[in-house]
Amino acid sequence: MAGEPETIPGEPAVPSAAVREELARASRSLESAEPVEIVRWAAERYGDQLTMATAFGPEGCLIIHWLAAVAPRTYVFNLDTGYQFPETLALRERILKRYGIDVVLERPETTVADYERLHGGPLYRTDPDRCCGDRKLAVVKRVLARFGAWMSGIRRDQSPDRAAAPIVGWDHKYGVVKISPLANWTKAKVWDAIMREDVPYNPLHDQGYVSIGCQPCTRAIGAGEDERAGRWSGSAKTECGLHSRG
Ligand code: SF4
Repeated sequence: MAGEPETIPGEPAVPSAAVREELARASRSLESAEPVEIVRWAAERYGDQLTMATAFGPEGCLIIHWLAAVAPRTYVFNLDTGYQFPETLALRERILKRYGIDVVLERPETTVADYERLHGGPLYRTDPDRCCGDRKLAVVKRVLARFGAWMSGIRRDQSPDRAAAPIVGWDHKYGVVKISPLANWTKAKVWDAIMREDVPYNPLHDQGYVSIGCQPCTRAIGAGEDERAGRWSGSAKTECGLHSRG
């Protein structure tokens, strides 16, 4: 790449003007591409510097379906906070069986038992930002330090925070390139593709759970509620912070 990112030890890398221009050009040219073509482009462009994070939502499962076809050796990981639903972890096994893709469970330094002992109880009740920071953000930072680009399943219509997500852009928070192949897809398009291609998905989606994260911070939603209303319900928190600018 012309003009590699500049790095300061301990700080996220900063892209040069040439890198920013290349990413903007790529994003514009991929804006109307099919997501599978975006996944293929990412795998060809970044090779073993590409990774993908998934919480096993429908979007992530669909991207894994495409990765299995175009770049099955990509390092795919899940942030295993210790608080995930058993159904989510069982889906990891189904994906392994179906695609041969062994999603790596990346874990925080402390077990749930040690973490709760250290803080006098579960922090998700009293300080969910700190809990997400320790059990998700610190882990994703650790993993992404080994890669140059990451891919995720976020969609622009999921939340105001995600509305401006480019297909390809610089992730200032982690100092890597971020690729969002489904940025301009809708929930309906994702589910059409899941059903058409018979992609494995979390059975909790059939029980009113729309956006699924950690068990203590996720509830099923009712008709007419926003798709992320079941996350950190009853608090002002709407994002774990993984996809917001740092
Ligand atoms: S979603 Fe809840 S349990 Fe999971 S890391 Fe965040 S606060 Fe903790």
